[in-house]
Amino acid sequence: MSNQVPNGRAELVEVAQSLDAAGLMPNKSGNVSIRTAGGFVITPAGTPYRDLTASSLFELGNGDTPDLPERKPGVSPFARPSSEWRMHAAIYRAYPSVGAIVHTHSPQATALACAGLGLPPFHYMIALAGGEVRCMPYATFGSAELADHAVRGLEERRATLLANHGVIAVGPTLRVAHAVALEVENLAGQWLALRAAGLQPQLLDTEELARVIEQFAGYGRLG
Ligand SMILES: [Zn+2]
Repeated sequence: MSNQVPNGRAELVEVAQSLDAAGLMPNKSGNVSIRTAGGFVITPAGTPYRDLTASSLFELGNGDTPDLPERKPGVSPFARPSSEWRMHAAIYRAYPSVGAIVHTHSPQATALACAGLGLPPFHYMIALAGGEVRCMPYATFGSAELADHAVRGLEERRATLLANHGVIAVGPTLRVAHAVALEVENLAGQWLALRAAGLQPQLLDTEELARVIEQFAGYGRLG
């Protein structure tokens, strides 16, 4: 049993590679993490996803200033955790119910974010994200300011867009965070198509979204 990969690391690698294969992590962008007892495990910076293994992941604490390893023996002298570790740490601190975080630069949602636009509730599947997806203001990647924006964007939501940057999706499990990231990209494509066609769909109201969220919970899609 000693060679078994502990604490969901194998699933993390699988999900990161699957997001990359689906085109949601262009040019080594994005990162994925899961909560652990004392912090979280996160993908490394700048590693091609196809080369990712459970042992190339980094485990960090949830504190304000995690003890960042300068180098990771046996992997690469330049290996470092994702530059967005602050954002992940801040989200885990702010939301105890979050068990996993997926950050992407998925093309369609990022296009919307570059225009400073969020996703309105035009399709019932947005209930996976908890309702309308906000677009939060721009801040430099890796900064504490960006981490603050991400935390605010996730208030009562499981996804937020980050202006001129990308997407954050969260969930109690990695399975859910993964599904939210895929759905946000799908909905962003539909919303861009509607805008390009000059069409204005009818939006769903809060009561209907609450009904859908309840049904999703019944099907186990949210937990
Ligand atoms: Zn990013």
